[in-house]
Amino acid sequence: MQVVTLGTGSPIPDPSRAGPATLVRAAGRDFLFDCGRGVLMRSAAALTGPVAFTAVLLTHLHSDHTTDLNDIITMRWVGSPGPNPLPLVGPPGTGALADRTLAMLSDDIGYRRAHHADLDWEPACSVTEVSDGVAYDDGTVRIVAAPTDHAPVHPTVGYRIEAEGKVVVIAGDTVPCAGLDRLCAGADAYVQTVIRPSLIEPIPFPRLQDILDYHSSVEDAAATASRAGVGTLVLTHLVPAPAPGSEPEWEAEARAGFGGTVVVAHDLWQLEL
Ligand SMILES: [Zn+2]
Ligand SMILES: [Zn+2]
Repeated sequence: MQVVTLGTGSPIPDPSRAGPATLVRAAGRDFLFDCGRGVLMRSAAALTGPVAFTAVLLTHLHSDHTTDLNDIITMRWVGSPGPNPLPLVGPPGTGALADRTLAMLSDDIGYRRAHHADLDWEPACSVTEVSDGVAYDDGTVRIVAAPTDHAPVHPTVGYRIEAEGKVVVIAGDTVPCAGLDRLCAGADAYVQTVIRPSLIEPIPFPRLQDILDYHSSVEDAAATASRAGVGTLVLTHLVPAPAPGSEPEWEAEARAGFGGTVVVAHDLWQLEL
C-alpha cells in the first residue's frame, strides 16, 4: 500500500500547501480522501487523476475538505470515453452535496454538451452515505468508517483501509474519541489532521481561537496513536502551517507522547507500506 499526502494545508491559503487531500493506493486502485484546494494539481504530480479514482471518500462536509469536488466531477466527466459516474462516499449529507454541486455546474454542463457532439451524457455521482461500518469492499480492499467527533460539525467519519495485509487510517478533523480509537487499533499508519494550540492561543483573532476545541492537537494525535499501538503517525492539515525549519518542533511534541515513527507531512510526501 502507498499513502501520498496530496494536500497538507488547511482553510488558510498557503503557497506551498494545497488543501486537505490524501491518496491511498492499494491493489492497483486509487482512493482519494477529501478534495481540498488544488487536489487535481497535486493528483497530476502523483500520476493519477479524476478518471483513475476508484472512489472519492469524504470525512466531512467542511468546505476546506470538499471545495474541489466540482473540479473532480467535471474533469472525470469530460475525460471519460463514456458514462462514468464518480463513486462518492461520505457521511449523511454527501448525496445532497453532490446534487447541489451538479446543480452549480449546470451552465457549464450545458455549454460542453452543446459544443461536443460525442458528449451526450451528463456527469453523475454514485453516492454511498456511511456513518459506521463498511464503506467499500471489493474483496481485495476493504474500507470501514466510524463516527468521529468534530462537534458542532456533524456528522463526520474517519476511515480504516485494509488491504495487502496492511492497515491505514485517514482520520479527518476530530478530537480523540471512541470511534477514532476503534479505527486506529493496530494500524500501520494513522494520518491525523492537527493543530498546535501553543501557536494559536497567542493570536488575537477570535475566529482562530474557535478552532481549538474541535481538532486534535499534536499531543492528542500522539496519545491516540500510542493508545492504539499505531506504527507511523502522519501529521497533516497543519494549523498554523509550520514556519520553514520548524517541523522538528512538531515532531518532538508528538514524540513526547508516542514511541513510533512520526512524520510531519508536506505535499506529495509518500509512505510505502
Ligand atoms: Zn473540519
Ligand atoms: Zn479541516
